[in-house]
Formats: sequence, C-alpha cells, structure tokens
Amino acid sequence: MSETLANLSSESRQFPPPEALAAAANVKAEAYEEAAGDRLAFWAKQADRLTWAKKWDQVLDWSNPPFAKWFVGGELNIAYNCVDRHVEAGRGDKVAIHWEGEPGDTRTITYAELLKLVSQAANTLTDLGVGAGDRVAIYLPMIPEAAVAMLACARIGATHSVVFGGFSVEALATRIADADAKLVITADGGYRRGKPSALKPTVDEAVAKSPSIENVLVVRRTGQEVAWTDKDKWWHETVEQASPEHKAQPFDAEHPLFILYTSGTTGKPKGILHTTGGYLTQVSYTHDAVFDLKADTDVYWCTADIGWVTGHSYIVYGPLSNGATQVMYEGTPDTPGRDRFWQLVDKYKVSILYTAPTLIRTMMKWGDDIPAGYDLSSLRILGSVGEPINPEAWMWYRKNIGRDRCPIVDTWWQTETGGVMISPLPGVTATKPGSAMTPLPGITADVVDDQAQSVPNGGGGFLVLRDPWPSMLRTIWGDDKRFLDTYWSRFGAGAGQGDEWIYFAGDGAKKDEDGALWLLGRVDDVMLVSGHNISTTEVESALVSHPSVAEAAVVGATDPTTGQAIVAFVIPRGNVDIEGDVGDQLNAELRNHVSKTLGPIAKPRQIMLVAELPKTRSGKIMRRLLKDVAERRSLGDVTTLQDSAVMDLISAGMKTSKSED
Ligand code: ATP
Ligand code: MG
Repeated sequence: MSETLANLSSESRQFPPPEALAAAANVKAEAYEEAAGDRLAFWAKQADRLTWAKKWDQVLDWSNPPFAKWFVGGELNIAYNCVDRHVEAGRGDKVAIHWEGEPGDTRTITYAELLKLVSQAANTLTDLGVGAGDRVAIYLPMIPEAAVAMLACARIGATHSVVFGGFSVEALATRIADADAKLVITADGGYRRGKPSALKPTVDEAVAKSPSIENVLVVRRTGQEVAWTDKDKWWHETVEQASPEHKAQPFDAEHPLFILYTSGTTGKPKGILHTTGGYLTQVSYTHDAVFDLKADTDVYWCTADIGWVTGHSYIVYGPLSNGATQVMYEGTPDTPGRDRFWQLVDKYKVSILYTAPTLIRTMMKWGDDIPAGYDLSSLRILGSVGEPINPEAWMWYRKNIGRDRCPIVDTWWQTETGGVMISPLPGVTATKPGSAMTPLPGITADVVDDQAQSVPNGGGGFLVLRDPWPSMLRTIWGDDKRFLDTYWSRFGAGAGQGDEWIYFAGDGAKKDEDGALWLLGRVDDVMLVSGHNISTTEVESALVSHPSVAEAAVVGATDPTTGQAIVAFVIPRGNVDIEGDVGDQLNAELRNHVSKTLGPIAKPRQIMLVAELPKTRSGKIMRRLLKDVAERRSLGDVTTLQDSAVMDLISAGMKTSKSED
C-alpha cells in the first residue's frame, strides 16, 4: 500500500488523570463501552439531560442520508433549557455570567436576570415583526447582550446568524444577503486594545446594501457618536422597556437554530446550518463530559469570541444548558497588560479554562514570568481548540498555567460538527502532549487511506466520521448540493463506493502505536516531498520544539528537484536575537534541528524569520497565503485575514532572503 501521510514524529510522554479528579469524574471509562454497545440508546440517554415539551418518537432518522434527523417528533425550547429551568429549580440567584469589559467595568448576571433580559428581548423581537423561521443577523462585541440576543432568537424560533464583530462591510452584507435576514442586532461599538472600536458605521453601510433588513437594534456600549436612520432602534429604549414576561413555546427538534459561517482558513466560508434538539443534546453532554463540569463549584471561562462556533457551543448553549457559572471577557489579552488573562483567572477563581493554541503560543512568546506572577491554583482543567496544539506548546500550558496539576483536553471539532468529537476525558484518559487522543463516547471517527480503508496503528491518512452524530450540520444554508459535494463526495456512498455514508472533514490525521489520534492539519496543505506526503503540523511542531522558536508555519513550494520543498516561516521567541549572522546561524540550526527530529526528508529548504504570521480572525494560521508567497504568486482570497499588512511584510522579506543550499 502506498503511504497516504507520513508518520515522522513520536511522543513518549504521557500524563494519567489526577486520582482525585478521576474518582469524582462526571464520565468514567464505562461510557465508551456503553455507547459502543448501543449508540442510539446512549444518545437518547444524553437527550434526557434536557427538558422536552414533547418526547421524541425516534432517536435517529437516517433514511435519506446524508440528511439526518435526530429526536424525530420531539419538541423543546432551547432558551427554556438554558435559562428558565434553572430559575424554576431554585437556582435563579446563581451567577450565569461574570462579565468583564476591557476597560475594567463589570456586570454580574444571575440566571434570574438572564431570564428577564432574554424575555424582554424576545418580546421586542416579536414587536419588530420577527417570528419563527425568520433570520436575524447578530454583529456585536463580547458583551452579555450577544448571548441575550442569541437566546432571544432561539426562544421565539428565529434563526440567528452571528457575524464576527471584526468583519468588514462586505463580509457582513454577503452574510445578511445569503441568509435573507430581517433584522440586525448590533452596538455602537466595543472596546478593543484600550479604545472604543466602532461597529455601527459598518452596519450602516452593510444595511444600505441589504434590502431584506427591516430594523436595526443597537446596544449602547461605548457611547460614541452614531449616525441614525429610521430603521434604527436603541436596545435600551426597546428591550429594556419591554415586558419581562414571556412564555417560551416549544419547537420541533429539527427546527433551524442557527447559521454560522466557517472561519475561512481554506477559502470562501460556508453557511453551516444547525438545528435544535440534537445540537443541544451534544453540546450539553460534551460540555459536561469534556470539562467535567461541576455546576455548583466550577467557574468556567472560554476565551473564544461568540462569533465563532466555539462561542456558540461552549459559551452560550453548552454551559448555560448545564447551569454553569462563567466568565465572559470583552477585550484583547494584552490590554491593559499582557497579564490580563491571568489576572482574570485569579480574580474570578476560574477553575476551567478553554482557549486556543494561537493564544498559548503567544503567551509562550511573551514569557513564563508573566503567568508566574499570579495565583492560578483555582484552575483544575485546561482545554485547547482551533488548531493542532504543538507538543511543546502543550507542555508549556501544562507547566506554566496548569502548574503540572491540571489535565489538558485537546478538543478536535469543527463548525460543521457543532460539538466536540475527539478529545480526552479528563478523569479517564492518560493524555499525550499534542494528541486529541480518542473519539468521545457515541462518536465514530477513523483515519483512512484514499480507498476509505482504515489505516493500521502507526499509519496516517484522512480523518473521517463514520456514523451520524446529534450535533452534525444539517446542510449548507440554501445549498444542499454544496453540502453533498464538500463533505460527502470523497469517500463512501457519496463517492459511489459501497452503501456507507462517510463524512470527510478535510483534515489529515494519524494513529500512533496505541491507536491515539494526532491531527496533522488540512489535507490540502500536505506537502509532497520526494514522493513522501509530509504534514505541515509535524514540521511546525518540530520547529516549535526548538527553544528559540515561538511559532512556525510551513508550506510546500514547487521545487524542480523534489516536486515540493518545505519553506518555513518562523517567529522567534521574544528574547532571541535575529540580526545579521546570528539570524543566519539560527536559520541553519533550525533546519538541522528539524532534520534531526523528523529525519532528513523533512528538512526545510528555506526558513524565513518573521515577526507575524497571517491568521484568520479566529487566530488560525492561513498557510495558503504563505504558499502564494513562497511560490511568488499574487495572493488569493484575503477577506478573512486578520491583518493584511502582515502579508506585505512577509512578501518583502521573501524577496530579499537568500536561497539556501
Ligand atoms: P474553513 O472551513 O472556512 O476553511 P475553518 O475550518 O478554519 O474554516 P472552523 O470550523 O472554525 O473553520 O475550524 C475547524 C478546523 O479547525 C478543523 O477542521 C481543524 O482543521 C481545526 N481544528 C479545530 N480544533 C482542532 C484541534 N483540537 N486539533 C487540530 N485541529 C483542530
Ligand atoms: Mg473547515
């Protein structure tokens, strides 16, 4: 069999769960067997975590694949499950959200207050003519109203489409048009990097191009001047004056809950559609299982923006359905200082922290002494999501943040999967730095070759999902054909091979000797060097394991002798000197370091020392743009890029750098 994806690195470090945590864990090892024994019964049991107005007749209808229906015939209200039922159970005084504004202003919102706000917002939406099935665009900073707006939509059965508050007029207008939204909920602005950052002007321009929009609801956050049209209504003059009484009606389990566009790492974002009952079941279960949430004592903090799926599933729907107390932070991690995160962990006694590798690597670059100055003893579980986490960054996180006490859960999932799919369980799994380990109970993931055959342990290939799961996407909004083509046409029935429908996620992965899963980045990024398929992740992790390196991105550039050659872009750690000869020496040292770690086949042809890497707004490295630079082409789609000046700097450096041996 020809090699699908090379397996070059090996990892021998392993960390069993702390004994006390394991003994008291919400989910124990038996869950895997239970789910494997009867997967649908297992998910039906998890659905019982929720309060249903009408019980389902059938757990899964997979008669028209790949269009799944979960909990067929069941009815529930999502907002009722996330808010009302906690108040009814006598937990109204429990804090739902400890909100911290970037300037340091704070709000403490209990479940009873959240119920009042969501009910008022639901009444206002109804008054503005929004009803079940209508679409609402939400373009807000990280303020409590973002969660309130989402829950109010869910409460009345309107489908929300949250657009990240940093996106341009064009991005917002195309998303409004794609969903045919009636209403936009926005704010005058939000605080970022120490100053107010306006949102309303972007909305004004986008709305001018959007005939479907009837009203714009505006939260006053910064108090800055705003232009006003007759479509605009202030939130404080409508929602905050509305009746706090609102009775939630149940909706069908398959009622559309939200549309969310993928973050655009690989190209044009896709409008992913999620529905009600299956989605809430899986995000509620996984939030409880993966973070071992003890709702009475834990303080949970997910640092994602609400505009990404992580914010939807693990700030709003998962934690609130479980009655958690959480921290929500408006601003950037370096305002007013680079210690803001650790100051917040200490202040709110955060016990569960969920963040992204990009932030962990940034903290590494800033230096160990920053977190060292804080009492982080409240932490008990750490999570990571968004990209493969390099083993060295994982070890740094464990040591400097978790102080060698806290299990790390590296959670693999996508906008499309809705909830976590592959992750350690903190009370069960002996973790390996850099591995997402195993599929969660009830999830069937596999690594296959190009014939859809499972690869043996030690082999690499394509990551696929073999069975439908409750929080799976139902389609791409308005485009069933693109849904079929994008996810279901590579392997299995959709590719004309057999009857099994196999979902292909777009990511490469390998199984180590023990069968643990290692994510290897996107298969589109895999480099073909002298006949070997080499993953970007393994070479990047080898670079990051050098003490002078904070971050790295590698791409395969066309090469006359080897087919493709590895070109690496490296950000040195803060204290490393890179001027003149020292830089040249470091360059040579890094190339040899990779060669020693992974073998000569993986030695980069060229290394560029850079100050920044191109990232999406959600912080993920956009390798396709670096490939354009490495092959000296003009750049592809840059609309989801965080900072376009970065690309000019890197291209300029590339032109002047000398070619290596
Ligand atoms: P687009 O699909 O538009 O290119 P995107 O894939 O970046 O955007 P998301 O749905 O936000 O949009 O990201 C999901 C992807 O993020 C996964 O397919 C995977 O590549 C990566 N990812 C997320 N979590 C992990 C993880 N724990 N380990 C490795 N990769 C991860
Ligand atoms: Mg994707």
